[in-house]
Amino acid sequence: MKAMVLKAPGSALTLENMPDPTPGPGEAVAKVLACGAGLTIHHARAGRLPIKTPRILGHEITGEIVATGAGVKGLERGDGVTAYFYLTCGECRWCRVNRETLCENFGGYVGREIDGGYAEYIKLPASSFVKFPEGLDWRTHPAEAGVICDAIATPLKVTRKARLVPTDTVAVFGAGGGLGVHMLKVARWAHARKVIAVDVMASKFEACVKAGADATVDASDGRVAERLLELTGGKGIDVAIDFVCGAATLEPAIAALGKGGRLVTLGGHGGTFSVRAGEVLRKEIEILGSRYATREEVIESLEIVARGEVWPMVTEKVSLADAEALHQRLDKALITGRAALMVG
Ligand SMILES: [Zn+2]
Repeated sequence: MKAMVLKAPGSALTLENMPDPTPGPGEAVAKVLACGAGLTIHHARAGRLPIKTPRILGHEITGEIVATGAGVKGLERGDGVTAYFYLTCGECRWCRVNRETLCENFGGYVGREIDGGYAEYIKLPASSFVKFPEGLDWRTHPAEAGVICDAIATPLKVTRKARLVPTDTVAVFGAGGGLGVHMLKVARWAHARKVIAVDVMASKFEACVKAGADATVDASDGRVAERLLELTGGKGIDVAIDFVCGAATLEPAIAALGKGGRLVTLGGHGGTFSVRAGEVLRKEIEILGSRYATREEVIESLEIVARGEVWPMVTEKVSLADAEALHQRLDKALITGRAALMVG
């Protein structure tokens, strides 16, 4: 099969011929139709996250099962599938209480610890595949169907972490990025009263508004907290969701929170930031971390899209061979929403 391979952290992806994978016991192989390309993958490609090479990256797949190994139940040839991309044990206390992103026996990530979807075929533990529901036309829309497992599921979990209710005003920091625009969509889907997009690239605001933002704040002038307070009549926002996660966004996010405000941070590269304990106390602020999503939230996200309530925003679709050029654009933050490789 053809695959885009990362041969060393930080090097360019190269198109290689690799052996077709065959499933062992408990495994299945899917033909890849499309695979999303986002920042999580790019951080691994760029060597900012630990990765063993050579490796085939990519986890936001739409695939069709072509072979199953011994003992596999519930998957058959022809099934349309995506992937749950955390490799979890399913048995520890965290897995048992539906918090498997905290798995005590965490095995890493599809596309980082094991080969992923930047290839014509992908082999995974059968339990890592998630079948598409009836009503989701994955053959016609493989790119959109493939990104749901992260781009919709991760924001869905954030709405729960933040206990988002329809009276809440929400600000999304890094709103123009791949997860950011989908966070705007899911916050709108969750009936937030007001959704505010914050980004340093004003060129992305048109897409933010299209995704459901009621207002936009250009963070490049360093007056984000003041602007958010103006937009809320001085009361402050109820929920701040930060995909950038350095002091430059986390500190204004906290300053802009009103009473009872919740901050959710989920950037993979979170740095340190300062917060006054007195402010946390006075306003009863909550600071929350949120990792990916549960398998159940992936299934629910697929169903939300199948019902037509949210539709993913995939703005660039390129061939497998053009993956490296796409990652160059990801590196420069030139992609609004999600991008995807069209494989099969
Ligand atoms: Zn576990």
